[in-house]
Amino acid sequence: MTYTQEKQVAIEAVTLAAALCQAVQAETVQVDSLEKNDKSPVTIADFGSQALICQRIKAAFPNDPIVGEEHSADLQKPENAAKLMQVTQYVRRFVSEATSEDVCRWIDAGNGRVADRFWTLDPIDGTKGFLRKEQYAVALALIEHGQVKVAVLGCPNLPLSLNDSNSPTGTLFVAVRGEGALMAALGSNSFTAIHVVREADKDRLRFAESVEADHGNQALQEAVAQAAGITQPPVRMDSQAKYGLVARGDAALYLRLPSPKSPDYREKIWDHAAGLLVIEEAGGRVTDMNGKPLDLASDFKMNHNRGVVASHGAQHAAVLAALARP
Ligand code: AMP
Ligand code: MG
Repeated sequence: MTYTQEKQVAIEAVTLAAALCQAVQAETVQVDSLEKNDKSPVTIADFGSQALICQRIKAAFPNDPIVGEEHSADLQKPENAAKLMQVTQYVRRFVSEATSEDVCRWIDAGNGRVADRFWTLDPIDGTKGFLRKEQYAVALALIEHGQVKVAVLGCPNLPLSLNDSNSPTGTLFVAVRGEGALMAALGSNSFTAIHVVREADKDRLRFAESVEADHGNQALQEAVAQAAGITQPPVRMDSQAKYGLVARGDAALYLRLPSPKSPDYREKIWDHAAGLLVIEEAGGRVTDMNGKPLDLASDFKMNHNRGVVASHGAQHAAVLAALARP
């Protein structure tokens, strides 16, 4: 099975959504946010991004469920009428006839359930990074029979190269299972193959972790990286852009260990599905902290996994061994 159409539609959808996010960021001095029930922030760009992507996916694949992070209920409350109007105006730049009803319907087209074949979407992964005007990602993945088959990860604020200050800002990562991982400047069609860092390239043996200390366990992450021979300070970055760093060899490891402040937190599939395939197709490995494969197809919450370890492969076993030590 090839996924030519799925890949094309996903690239177009993520590219449009990334453009909407960039417009919101460029045109707003300080983007404000609503607080969701779980206390996490959501902005007009999260809603606009989800609406655009679901509209595109449903137009091309009407029977595919989409398991997305956002829903329109809060946006439809009377006190948020001005916000809904703003979201609609941004969506209209890309779909000129869109009404507020359309926008809410498209957002809620992303409230599907996991199935034998489905898409999972984080319209803005790393909303806290987006609010700080730092890193965030638009993450879309197709899952079939429990396996990620297509992944598109748009990182509007990530330079194409971390080592070249003249490189364009905005990176798109794309992977199809069995076909390798690719990267392009966001909005261009010029893809190059990417590969995880090779052991010999010692300078790049550093690890990535969240900016948000409460989304991980920074003390344990540092200890585990050291046990695996990584002595350089971590690269802290928001969102699945961290998966992109490992996939293209800017980091050897991405560690996301459960925070002692929220031991019962369960990772969400839309925070990992796209990144996982990009790393695997670039030659790396992704498991949970116990070495178990990520379960991305039983529920939107990864109830059977704890933490995430993503690596260039060579040090994966050493990291898991360090984590297994009492
Ligand atoms: P990052 O930018 O890597 O910190 O990841 C952002 C994601 O962290 C958000 O999309 C949330 O779904 C997720 N998140 C929220 N709370 C937690 C937590 N306590 N532990 C791990 N991840 C979390
Ligand atoms: Mg997220």
